[in-house]
Amino acid sequence: MPRVRVLVLQHGLGALDYAAPPEMALAPGDIVRVPLGPREIVGVVWETEALAANEVPDAKLRAVRGRYDVPPVPAQMRRLIDWVADYYMAPPASVLRMALSLTALEPARKLIEYRLGGALPTRATPQRLQAIERLEGRQGSPRELAAAAEVSEAVIRGLIAGGTLVAVDAGPERAPPQPDADFAQPVLSYEQAVAAADLVAAVDAHAFAPFLLDGVTGSGKTEVYFEAVAAALRAADDGLGGQILVLVPEIALTAPWLERFAARFGCAPLAWHSDLRASERRRAWRAVADGGARVVVGARSALFLPFVNLRLIVIDEAHEASFKQEDGVSYHARDVAVMRAQAENIPIILATATPAIETRVQVARGRYTELKLPSRFGGAQLPDIDTIDLRSNPPVRGRWISPPLLAALRNNLQIGEQSLLFLNRRGYAPMTLCRACGERIECPQCTAWMVEHRLTQRLMCHHCGYQTPPPPACPACGAEGMLVPCGPGVERVAEEVAQVLPDARVALVTSDTIYSPARAAALIASVDAGDIDILIGTQLVTKGYHFPNLTLVGVVDADLGLAGGDLRAGERTFQQIAQVSGRAGRGAKPGRVLLQTHQPEARVMQALVHYDAEGFYAAETAQREELGMPPFGRLAAIIISGPNEAQASATARAIGRAAPKIDGINVLGPAPAPLSMLRGRYRFRLLVHARRSADVQGMIRGWLGGIEVPSAVRVAVDIDPHSF
Ligand code: ADP
Ligand code: ZN
Repeated sequence: MPRVRVLVLQHGLGALDYAAPPEMALAPGDIVRVPLGPREIVGVVWETEALAANEVPDAKLRAVRGRYDVPPVPAQMRRLIDWVADYYMAPPASVLRMALSLTALEPARKLIEYRLGGALPTRATPQRLQAIERLEGRQGSPRELAAAAEVSEAVIRGLIAGGTLVAVDAGPERAPPQPDADFAQPVLSYEQAVAAADLVAAVDAHAFAPFLLDGVTGSGKTEVYFEAVAAALRAADDGLGGQILVLVPEIALTAPWLERFAARFGCAPLAWHSDLRASERRRAWRAVADGGARVVVGARSALFLPFVNLRLIVIDEAHEASFKQEDGVSYHARDVAVMRAQAENIPIILATATPAIETRVQVARGRYTELKLPSRFGGAQLPDIDTIDLRSNPPVRGRWISPPLLAALRNNLQIGEQSLLFLNRRGYAPMTLCRACGERIECPQCTAWMVEHRLTQRLMCHHCGYQTPPPPACPACGAEGMLVPCGPGVERVAEEVAQVLPDARVALVTSDTIYSPARAAALIASVDAGDIDILIGTQLVTKGYHFPNLTLVGVVDADLGLAGGDLRAGERTFQQIAQVSGRAGRGAKPGRVLLQTHQPEARVMQALVHYDAEGFYAAETAQREELGMPPFGRLAAIIISGPNEAQASATARAIGRAAPKIDGINVLGPAPAPLSMLRGRYRFRLLVHARRSADVQGMIRGWLGGIEVPSAVRVAVDIDPHSF
């Protein structure tokens, strides 16, 4: 019987051979059910050609049981999975797991949705009336209807029970929205039009072409890449319309983006994120696989969807660190997206006002084409940026807003313009200290301080999520009333603003308060309506908002990101402050930015004040080149972790001793990893630093392949690690 090699979705197993019943006519990419021991598991046919009989003799070979009724995994996608597994040294099954949605494999079920019927509710509460008014002509799941009507799901369920909303059979599938490339064409500025023309030409050429769309904040990058999206929508091959993937850093923040998309293309795109219910996930996955879904927007996991006719990838805010995944398979979505564009032979656009050094170097090497938008759309000016030297202008003891910043906030309040205070720290205080014994409260499972959250009355570990109520007495010495918060988080800055500017209307913007697209939309509405005077937020406020009346940005602690001093500290600080500065003065009124710092003379502060991005990046790049750091050299981290410190440490040392000596590759460590305990596991790290041309993966494979580790110890490889 012919054999097929099947990549099975089973941790620790790779590709296994099975007998292929001829009547199934299996082809590569087919999603199949295969036996494994007493069970049946899912796999994908990886190879069918000329498989020699291997250690499993024909007679012992078990047969493929059946094929799922879904489109096969396309060849480009299989290639991508192989590449990702190979480059990031991840088990292929783990990569396949990201690409296969198991719920999508189940047969279609009847889909029940609801819409307004005839009956009026017996009890007409204001919320019920609001729902009835807003749901005119709408149909959807209870959750969708609740979101559309801005009422709770309980209100919707009440209306269903009372017969006001009636069930309708929506059929097994609901067609995804069909964007219209010509729904509303914008008038582009000259510089926008020039950039858009290059992108459109690249989409029409249908070949691999990476672009850096480097436009200052407010330059209208979105409008420009929308023209490339329109071109890809118009493209059709074999009757299949072109598909487009837009990757965004965080789906909860896409509300304004979705509105702009709808204004340009007449409907919402398909959103892919971890909150989808099984039925929604199934529908979305299948719609992508059969080509019905044209534009998909999602966070990094959308990268592994099975597009059949992908014509364009866009990465919005491409500099964002959240594209780097560290849990499970560690990969960088930006880099995998470029691999995917290459596999699909299509253009990819990296849009950002603050490109990563890696991306700039690709431009310098001639690999990526740079398109620049040097000015803001509509004649708005970039804000003036100044530093406030905290050494000569210290805030009052126990406060964090210096006199000059306070004066600027007060002035802005008086003239009726909006301000933003930025501090990249959630919670009330990053540390709680006992004044009696000096104890600092730490997470029991991580090397990290517990962060006080006063809104929720909790101490929280930001690394593992562990929480406790604030203890009444010091857990170390038992002293009562001696625990004090140390340092500021955004909640504490908000408290200070309430004390010093009691008339100001304040909104807190952190992932604790803005956790869903609906909350983001509500925030935007109240800022637009002028109901908010001062926004106080973490890096969440640096993302994509456009508030024309916001004219002052205060950075509470511009030095925060520089502490620790890893390779990317300067770059990250520059990006973050440039992004948050970009929120100021986007409308007719000019903006102003004040950076509170203890080191106004530092290179990054000077570069920000003088808008000298080129000079800053040139110096940072030269430094990396001198040290042979990425992208001029290569790094990989090997993290050895276990519940027993001595055992993990001994394993790490044994692995270190076994490191092969290869010219151009250095192994450093082991040393305690940056988070030396995480979720109860002790962590040690070996760093591999190599020349750019070195085969780092090959070296690591040869090295780790021959090492036995105790079963409680885990060895994980992080290629191109971010923090070190
Ligand atoms: P960026 O993403 O580059 O910071 P945006 O895409 O948010 O900039 O654009 C800034 C503002 O200018 C947005 O409100 C956007 O709608 C508007 N804008 C940009 N280009 C145009 C255009 N061609 N026509 C109308 N409005 C535009
Ligand atoms: Zn923890």
